[in-house]
Parts: sequence; C-alpha cells; structure tokens
Amino acid sequence: MTEKISPENLAKLPFMESKLDLEERVEDLLGRLTLEEKFRLSVGIKNFFTKTIERLGIPYFKMCDGPHGIGPHSTNNTKCTYFPTGICRTSTWNPKLAEEFGVALGQEIRDIGFHMSLGPGINIQRSPMCGRNFEYQTEDPYLNKIMAIHIVKALQSQRIAACVKHYVCNNQETNRYTGSSEVSERALQEIYLPAFEATVREADAWSFMTCYNKVNGIYGCENKNLIIDRLRNEWGFRGFVVTDWLATSWSESTEKAVNAGLSLEMPTAKKYRKTRLRNALSSGKFTEETFNENIRRLLRVMFLTGLFDDKNTLPKSSRNTPEHQAIARKIAEEGIVLLKNEGNLLPLKLDDLNKIAVVGPNAAKKSAMGGGSSQVLPPYEVTPLQGLKEKCKGKVEIIAMPSEADVAIVFAGLNHEQGMDCEHVDKNLFDLPIEDIELINKTVQENPKTVVVLISGSPIGMQGWIENIPALVEAWYPGMEGGHAIANILFGDVNPSGKLPLTFPKKLLDSPAHKSTRTFPGEKLKVFYDEGIFVGYRYFDINDIEPLFPFGFGLSYTTFKLENLNLSTETISNDKGFTVSVEISNIGARPGAEVVQLYIQDIESSIPRPLKELKGFKKVELTPGETKKISFELGLKDLSFYDEESSCWKAEKGLFKILVGNSSRNIFLQSELEFLG
Ligand code: BGC
Repeated sequence: MTEKISPENLAKLPFMESKLDLEERVEDLLGRLTLEEKFRLSVGIKNFFTKTIERLGIPYFKMCDGPHGIGPHSTNNTKCTYFPTGICRTSTWNPKLAEEFGVALGQEIRDIGFHMSLGPGINIQRSPMCGRNFEYQTEDPYLNKIMAIHIVKALQSQRIAACVKHYVCNNQETNRYTGSSEVSERALQEIYLPAFEATVREADAWSFMTCYNKVNGIYGCENKNLIIDRLRNEWGFRGFVVTDWLATSWSESTEKAVNAGLSLEMPTAKKYRKTRLRNALSSGKFTEETFNENIRRLLRVMFLTGLFDDKNTLPKSSRNTPEHQAIARKIAEEGIVLLKNEGNLLPLKLDDLNKIAVVGPNAAKKSAMGGGSSQVLPPYEVTPLQGLKEKCKGKVEIIAMPSEADVAIVFAGLNHEQGMDCEHVDKNLFDLPIEDIELINKTVQENPKTVVVLISGSPIGMQGWIENIPALVEAWYPGMEGGHAIANILFGDVNPSGKLPLTFPKKLLDSPAHKSTRTFPGEKLKVFYDEGIFVGYRYFDINDIEPLFPFGFGLSYTTFKLENLNLSTETISNDKGFTVSVEISNIGARPGAEVVQLYIQDIESSIPRPLKELKGFKKVELTPGETKKISFELGLKDLSFYDEESSCWKAEKGLFKILVGNSSRNIFLQSELEFLG
C-alpha cells in the first residue's frame, strides 16, 4: 500500500487521468492514501500551503490572500495588481465589474502557480467601526449576494478556488478570536447567511473559511450546525472548509472540528496534530469515515483547480497587465461616490483654473500595503496627488496654499493603520482625527471652493465640518489606479455613478450596533445582535433616524428621471412570479449611469418587517436624452420573511409596496401588489 511508485507508473494511475470523471478521480486518490497521509493532508505548512505527499505525487495546494489582490506575505513578495477594496467594488453596483475583477484575480493567481484565493470576504458591515469594513462589501444581504456570486463564478471560471470568508458573523475585530456573536435565527437567515448561501447554491463555491469567533457559543471551526447542517446538507456544498489562520488555537477540541466537517487546519497543526488525531480516532471520538469525507472534499477541490492536470490544459494566466490595471481603474471610477456638490462646484474645468491647492494627509499616501492580511504589493500605485499632477500638467499649477488657489482639495480620511481601517483592531475613532477636521475647516475658511476627498473604507462621522464644505467625494481605497480615477471624477472625464453600499450615520449612537454599550464591543465576550434583522438602513428606516447619507446614495453630474413603473400583475398567488418594469431617462447634459434600486415593503405583516428591503438593482448607462426600459423579475421569496416558529420562509397574504428609486431614501415611484396566498 505504501510502496514507492515510479513516476511512469504514477502517471498511469486513474486519478492522474484528466478525462476521467471527477468523482472517480477523487475516490481513486482517496483510496490510495494511508490514514497517516490523510492526517498529513489536513494541516498546512509554510503558512499558505497544504503538505505534499510525494509517494503519490500530490504537490502543494497553494492559497493566497486576499480579497482585492494577491498578498505578498502569502507569495514571497510577488508583485500583483492592486484592485480597489471590497467596499469600493461594491459601490459600483456593477456585477459585471465584480466578474471582471474575479477573472483578472484568477488569472493572476494562476500566474504565480497558486490554486485558491482567500476571498471574497463577505461579512455584513454591521458596524461603522469594524476594522475590516473596507475588505467587506455591504450592509445589505441582497447586494452582498449578487456581487459575491459574480466574483466566485469568475474566479472559478479560471479554475482558481474561491474561499468565501469569514463564515459567519465575524462583524467586528474586537475579541474576534474568542467572542461570541449572539444572533437570532431570523437575522442569520435574512441578513448574515444569504450571500454565503448564494455563493454555494448559485456559484458552486469550492471553499469556505470559518470565522474565528463563536456563533451563538460555538466556534466557527467547530460549528457542525453551520458547516454540516447548513453548508453541506442544506445548500449542497461540495467543497472543503478551512479554518481562519490559527483559529484552532482557541477552539475546543480535535473531535469537535473533525465532526463539524473541518477539512483543513491552517497554517499549522494545533488540534490536528497527528498524535491528537490518532488518539481521538482510536478512542472513538470520530470515525475514519467522517475524516475521509473531510479529506475527500479537499481532494475534490485539488482536482477542480487542476492540481494534477497538464498545465497547458488550464486557463491562461497573466499578471500586472495593462488590462488588469484598466479593470482596477474602472472599478475605482465606478465605485467612487459623489456625496455632496453644492452649486455644481464639481466637475472642475481645466480651462477655468490657474491654481489648485492640494492638501491633507492622504494626498500623497499609498494604501496598498496597509490594512492587514488583505495588503497587496503592486508594481506601482498612483496617489491622488500624482493623478492630479498628471491631469493638470502644463495647464494648471498645483500649490499648497488654499488662499492662493482657485479651488482647494483636501485629501483626508483614514490610513489603514491600526485603529484606522485595519485588521485585528476596530477603528478607534468614528470621526476624523481632530487635526484633519481643523485642516478642513481652515482650508474652507481660506477658500470657500473646497472639495474634500475621503480615502477610507468605512463610514466616518462628519459633524463639525460637512456643513461647511460645498463638495465631498468618498474615494474609498481605490487601488493602484486610484489617483487617475479620482482625477477623472474630479474633472468630469468620468461621471460619478458609485452608490453607498452602507448607511453613513450622523453619529455613532444612531447605528444599531452601537445603540447601547451592551452590544459592542461585547459584554463578557458576547456581542448581542439585539437589532436582529434591523441592520443598516433597515434600522434607520424603522426608527425614523435620518442618516447622514443613506444606503444606495450617490450623486451624478447629470440628472435622471424615473417614470412609468409597471407591474405585470396586481395580484399574485403561490408560486407565481411577477415583473416590474420602469423607464429611466437621462435628462441632463452629460452621459452617465444610474443605479435603479427596487425595494419591497410588506404593508400588512404579523411581525415587524423592514420598511424597505432591496430586491433588485440595475446600473443603466444613458446618453443625454436617452431613455431605457428595464425590468426586474421577482418571486414569492422576495416577499417572504424567515418565520422562526415554522422554521421556514413565509409570505403573508396582503398588500406589498414596490418602491423604485435611486437610493433607499429617494423613492420616486411606487405601486402595490396583493399576495393572495
Ligand atoms: C485573516 C484572514 C486571512 C488569513 C491568512 C487571518 O488573520 O482573518 O482573512 O485570509 O489571516 O492571512
């Protein structure tokens, strides 16, 4: 069984035959592995690899961070494209760009000979203070799901495994290794799980990374309910589950992890040390069959990513190409959000300006190598100042004195250091640092034509300065081409079309996770998700709290008009779908793109439901004067809530509102529909 096999004979083994059925290959290889070899495969080595089994020609299976480009710490400092971070990508509300990003990232990962991306990161942005909001996508489950599906499908189209993380309710960094997220089943079903579920059901995700934290008292990597009951059995997951790095240092036991369905412990052996595995197995704490199933899943993904196949038969690789850089720029251009533009100060016109003052701590700051494990090492990064210099070259002078300039631009925000949008710790401030607030106010006093551009990956409190400035742009962490994208937005080469994927509260106490100190950062290591399903705009709506900027909001340099909302039916009964159509026109003078957003509201409901739930969106490009008709297909599930009593989704008879607008607080059209049961 364990004799050495010559390379010629190895090549003839059934599992090496790429034309053979996937499951036959998996079973053949699994059947050849000794118990000790299976143990060996269940733990990592070299921080990001699985171990090799030379006897059977099993090479390293290589994983790399992260969610917006390849992490140099996982790949020996390889240079790669630095794409805008997750929050910026999601602000595009453009699934096509999520797809282009996924394909490009897949091509880069293949190029360095790796097999899995440790991303996308799709935890819900529950609190504006979470240190990793910049990596994540949104506060809304529907937007989260649509963007995640596209990334996972795209990555895997390149035969690179997506590792969807961090499953689940890792919504803050404070106490992330030991805290317990105390969350209701309804909130899990309606808010926290849908995107994870969709990446399995609709995109066949090949891997999941567990969260560090506990969910309702049980560690993510030992959570049988999450991994076996839901992920495998309910959703039909065929891939493998890996720990977050070192998570098993805190979790409870070897057998709990094995029995929960954890295939791979990273980066080294803790609970899956050979002696521990042997002892637990021999004392009957888990069965070999259970362990085999965990390993079978890892092998399956090895085959899916082409680990045993001729490299020439795999999708083509490429890295740091102009095409990938163009995708990074496009995502930034579509993800940057124009939040305020009084008196149409923007776009700036090169011909009308002699001098621009550029100030602020983020003007010349690079951000690729910050934020923690999602850092990226790009061959170059265009800073905001560099982007402006290139744009203005030979036409407009860039100076440092606002009082002497025609327009002043302040680059403020956060900087990806600890406490300022970074892994391991949550943000230490909701507002900007005091020096930045003073700088903004001083600048606008000296020059009323002041534009503030924020570089940040989470909502920032703006009391004390927002009212003083005429124009504000949220540029997020816009990737290696960010400086070009910012300049293109400020000068109108690109018409802004980004929309906020989360609510910006006026003050922290307005935010549901912070309504009382009991819930965040967590009493006795428990974080109570007391707001239930009322996360983000759902909470602001139901409590009638005015946000600073609402979910879905973002301005354009042109004007759009929505009209002619039409429903295919006024009543629906069980199992019938319906179509909602609407016309959108560009009635301004510039080409632009608008995100049409469709929300539903259950008017008569036996339990509290949100006043709005996003159920559809479309980004539509329009030239001046152009009108397009768009439509949304909806079904019963879109009207339903998760009923904890019957443990299933339920739509109740009665009237529903269909609301269409261009933000969660700008609803222009509405209609009603009756569900007859
Ligand atoms: C992070 C993961 C990351 C892993 C490997 C962990 O600390 O939480 O998101 O993929 O490290 O770097």
